[in-house]
Amino acid sequence: MCAISNRFKSFYELTPEKFQNKTNGITPRRWLVLSNQNLSNAITEKISEGWITNLDELKKLKDLINNEAFVKNIQRVKQENKERLADWLTKAYHIQINPQSIFDMQVKRIHEYKRQLLNVLHIITMYNRIIKNPNENYVPRTVMIGGKAAPGYHMAKKIIKLVNSVGKIVNNDPVVSDRLKVIFLENYRVTLAEQIIPAADLSEQISLAGMEASGTSNMKFMLNGALTICTLDGANVEMAEEVGNDNIFIFGMTVDDVEKRRREGYHARDIYEKNAELKQAIDQIQNGFFSPENPALFQDIVDSFLRNDGDHYMLLADYEEYIKCQERVNELYRDQTAWTRKCILNIAASGKFSSDRTIADYAREIWNVEPTLQALPNPHEGRPGTQHEGENINIQNEKQKQSQ
Ligand SMILES: *Cc1c(COP(=O)(O)O)cnc(C)c1O
Repeated sequence: MCAISNRFKSFYELTPEKFQNKTNGITPRRWLVLSNQNLSNAITEKISEGWITNLDELKKLKDLINNEAFVKNIQRVKQENKERLADWLTKAYHIQINPQSIFDMQVKRIHEYKRQLLNVLHIITMYNRIIKNPNENYVPRTVMIGGKAAPGYHMAKKIIKLVNSVGKIVNNDPVVSDRLKVIFLENYRVTLAEQIIPAADLSEQISLAGMEASGTSNMKFMLNGALTICTLDGANVEMAEEVGNDNIFIFGMTVDDVEKRRREGYHARDIYEKNAELKQAIDQIQNGFFSPENPALFQDIVDSFLRNDGDHYMLLADYEEYIKCQERVNELYRDQTAWTRKCILNIAASGKFSSDRTIADYAREIWNVEPTLQALPNPHEGRPGTQHEGENINIQNEKQKQSQ
């Protein structure tokens, strides 16, 4: 699968020979062994430690989804990670977190194409449903959004302001209680990513199809046993190929749908007029429901949706399917065993997304170099207080060892 971003399509058609595409990856040492020792140990206990330097070996976990004790153990590990994060969030943000809720995370640079605002529209929709029917049995959620805005990017800063403002109303509404919480994670960076991703249930990868070249947080979450809700954009396409469409929550327009829609003429206002819940959410942003001290605060966000040539990233076109897809997420979460089995299948299918594979592809197909047979330092080295200080692991794989 070739994930050349739609941005380069015409350039690619002109001179395809100039393009070489290697699927990105993440290092399993940082993003699992170091950051999620509980899960790492639970995996090694069952399939031994070969996976750390040969991530494809995670495939062996597939055979364990009917092993009740293993499924329970993976569920326990996730729950412990969530409780640890809940304690930290309560201290840092003075918000009581329900550790039984779905930990729903979207952490990445704030950008209109990544559509944090679509996530916000879902939050407002959940809130309005709870207020409208407070006695229904809702699956509780804690939505975390984190990321930095570029200093000169006005809309990105407005998006951060909106997430905080919606959080202030939702988190303090006694009718909502512990069924919905919204947290904007400040100062998002790698060290924070390492702390929060092990506790994620749901990974939000909801960019407009054709916009994201790859993404890597999608891979970090998958490796840590979160399920993904996503559009068919960037490496999400390859993740779906690896894990199978039944084990990932896909919604929304494809790249082809987006192109077709643009050609035919896209009118966001028509969608707004026809969908009552969407209209209510946008009207609340518009009329100062979330910014009573300054009702006009989010006018530019509303304009970005509704002015004549607005909604460039077509959030409104994907809204209805996104909400329906989130309902499917809730239904699966009610069955914790079925949910955890899918988490295990996702971990098992994440082997392709090791940066070891990416680098090997570069070495073979671009750089024309052979791998060296040198031992690498242990990933724990230099991290005070961790186990295995000073030990070395041998990075070379079995094949290389045999050829020595
Ligand atoms: C992985 C990572 C990213 C990339 O996130 P995407 O969702 O792939 O855009 C950005 N920032 C930090 C701190 C990360 O760890």
